[in-house]
Amino acid sequence: MGYPNGVAPQGNQPLFSFGVITDVQYADIPDGRSFIGVPRYYRNSILVLQRAVQKWNNHQNISFSLNLGDIVDGYCPKDQSLNAVRKVAKEFENFNGPVYHMIGNHCLYNLPRSKLLPLLSIPSVDTCAYYDFSPIPEYRFVVLDGYDISAVGWPHDHPHTIEALKLLDEKNPNVEKNSPNGLVDLERRFLKFNGAVGKEQLKWLDNILQDATKSNQKVVVCCHIPLDPGATSKEALLWNYDEVMDVIHRYDCVKACLGGHDHQGGHSVDSHGVHHRVLEAALECPPGTDAFGYIDVFEDSLELLEFVFLNGNGELLELVNGYSSGSITIMSYLTVDLSASVRNQLLNPDSYQQY
Ligand SMILES: [Zn+2]
Repeated sequence: MGYPNGVAPQGNQPLFSFGVITDVQYADIPDGRSFIGVPRYYRNSILVLQRAVQKWNNHQNISFSLNLGDIVDGYCPKDQSLNAVRKVAKEFENFNGPVYHMIGNHCLYNLPRSKLLPLLSIPSVDTCAYYDFSPIPEYRFVVLDGYDISAVGWPHDHPHTIEALKLLDEKNPNVEKNSPNGLVDLERRFLKFNGAVGKEQLKWLDNILQDATKSNQKVVVCCHIPLDPGATSKEALLWNYDEVMDVIHRYDCVKACLGGHDHQGGHSVDSHGVHHRVLEAALECPPGTDAFGYIDVFEDSLELLEFVFLNGNGELLELVNGYSSGSITIMSYLTVDLSASVRNQLLNPDSYQQY
């Protein structure tokens, strides 16, 4: 998506903008709660998505949108999974531009990769869902498949399932592999609902970043599972986040990493100045509030603008949080809805929830 007439905009005009939303986790079931009691609004979340698409379309300058994964909830009755995924995919199709999807654990609880990937038009290599795209020559987006090595989504006898189960057995002594009981500090990430980036994908990432460096491109890395412990709870971290970040830190081209999965969201700047932004879940928006946004991309900065409506009055909140470092700045219009403070009170670091 280049500029009209091939001329870069001047002044404060972004080079391009893109929409973001994550963890819609729609299901046609009554509202519920997470393991630790955070309310979940399974039917409302598709309305949040509808408003996101409407906002992006009304903006008229959103080049594409990113869905960071988990479009349908694991509690969706299995005989409804296919229809539920189709229904959410159709809502995304109402956006006037391309949508780049990521898969999450909840997607994989519902459908196998072989069905899921074509429904979401996810480019794949051997049904691994990693790919890259370049909306303008100066920027490249890398989408990682965090469930490449995973105990969910692959056939039971698939080498990637076997590798994942072996790792979980080594790292997590609990019978229930979604429980972090007894796991200490960052080891708490070794839970069944997380996963890892496999060796082939790591090699691919290295090649992409090498090429991006040669081409003088700035890179945004996207993965459903967060990549930095500073931006997420330990229980929602990629198993081999350290290996992925080692590859990323070999180069200077990656400026920001975007994730979902940890519903309360978070942000951090890591030791190499890479920004990590985990986006808040659409699923946990009480009716009348929203969690979605768009990112304005400039030559040396990204600005995240999130719309949150309080009590359905449609107000765009004022800037409540901003941060910057090095060559990239991410100004964040963060969620300050009532649910956020309630959520934080409810969150108990010793508990776990099914992200
Ligand atoms: Zn997830």
